[in-house]
Amino acid sequence: MGVRELRQLPSVDRVLQIPAIHQLAQDHARELVVEEIRAVLEEARRKVQEGGSAPSPGDAAAQVMQRVEAGLRPSLRPVINASGVIVHTNLGRAPLSLRARQAIEAVTRGYSNLEFELEEGGRGSRHDHAVGLLTRLSGAEAALVVNNNAAALLLVLACLARHRQVLIARGQLVEIGGGFRIPEILAQSGAELVEVGTTNRTHLEDYAGAIGPRAAVILRVHHSNFRLAGFVHQPPLTELVELGRGRNSLVVDDLGSGTFLDTRAYGLAAEPTVQESVAAGADLVTFSGDKLLGGPQAGIIVGRAALIERLRRHPLTRALRVDKATLAGLQATFIAYLDGKAAEEIPVWRMIAAPAPDLKRRAEAWAEELQGKGLRAGVIEGRSTVGGGSLPEETLPTFVLALEHERPTELARALRTGNPAVVGRLEGERLLLDPRTVLPEEDEALLRALAAAY
Ligand SMILES: *Cc1c(COP(=O)(O)O)cnc(C)c1O
Repeated sequence: MGVRELRQLPSVDRVLQIPAIHQLAQDHARELVVEEIRAVLEEARRKVQEGGSAPSPGDAAAQVMQRVEAGLRPSLRPVINASGVIVHTNLGRAPLSLRARQAIEAVTRGYSNLEFELEEGGRGSRHDHAVGLLTRLSGAEAALVVNNNAAALLLVLACLARHRQVLIARGQLVEIGGGFRIPEILAQSGAELVEVGTTNRTHLEDYAGAIGPRAAVILRVHHSNFRLAGFVHQPPLTELVELGRGRNSLVVDDLGSGTFLDTRAYGLAAEPTVQESVAAGADLVTFSGDKLLGGPQAGIIVGRAALIERLRRHPLTRALRVDKATLAGLQATFIAYLDGKAAEEIPVWRMIAAPAPDLKRRAEAWAEELQGKGLRAGVIEGRSTVGGGSLPEETLPTFVLALEHERPTELARALRTGNPAVVGRLEGERLLLDPRTVLPEEDEALLRALAAAY
């Protein structure tokens, strides 16, 4: 009887003659459609052999259409971030400003002067585009942009400390997440790690005692996602700089996030600024483009001109270079800082600056709308976080939409897999949604998604 069922399975050609599938093969790549028909028939054959029944032609056609559509849908898609974590690495870190997105669109639509000198009509360097803005903003002599901050660190160490020693305080041998561990990056660069001091306390004398003729770099690393508190000590950057100068060693400051704006003005703890590190005399300072800076993914190096020149000539720089879209987005982001408009234009800073009463009004408006649709929604006080390895344990007061549900984890899943995808935060029996990280233009889509998933 299985044999008869098997014989009833249509051929690929028969399926292609079903009008809806015929149309599908007209609208999309025929080979893709044929491939999915084969996959559906194969699946049906297996089912029949296991004692099941063959799908009707209509069912088979529907499966083919679904598979073709799924195959043509990008896996990378927009997500509404209602988690309250502003620089959320898993959700793509910084959303870009309108200015940055327009700059990317303008430069990528056609050709650009990426490596072309328009005045002279000859070859230029892509590395020149970010220099002017970065030196003005940071006070440094020169700058270089690479793929991300991990790449920046790798390049700096490979270029300046290969086969030589790099001094790092024991408390700064951090793992940042995503497999990024300072000792491993250091090993990849060919530099030799010299651990200095103890986990909680490292003094200038510890550095002075450890620094020898083979020392090339004193590396200071931001703690990123953890906080060292209690009986702790690290010498200030100025003291490391003084020691380095006297002992022929460079001082490199990995700021991690880095910021041009003073976080204290927003009710947060002090995050070291790029300008401060440059002013303190660090030879090179490295930081990310897509953390507190609020731009596209990039690793930014600023510092002394002679060192930047050496970095530019290093073969790794070619491998780690950024493309035109990144440079366009970065330039636009820097211009917002230069023009004093960063806090109002750059989404990360707008989110940091959003006053709690405004967030309360927004959450209440959401709740009201959803209550009208019969959802059990309320507004409670909450805390947002900055994320991105900056300001660990620091929070911003907020008001969140709290959704009551019998199966909150299922609700959360339905929201994540819906269209648009929404990511909130589970807390006990409730799903919390923080308006701070939801872009204003996403409100309507969010409410639709909530009503559909509830
Ligand atoms: C985030 C971070 C890095 C890595 O930066 P990416 O841009 O993600 O490569 C390096 N160092 C520190 C201290 C960081 O916080």
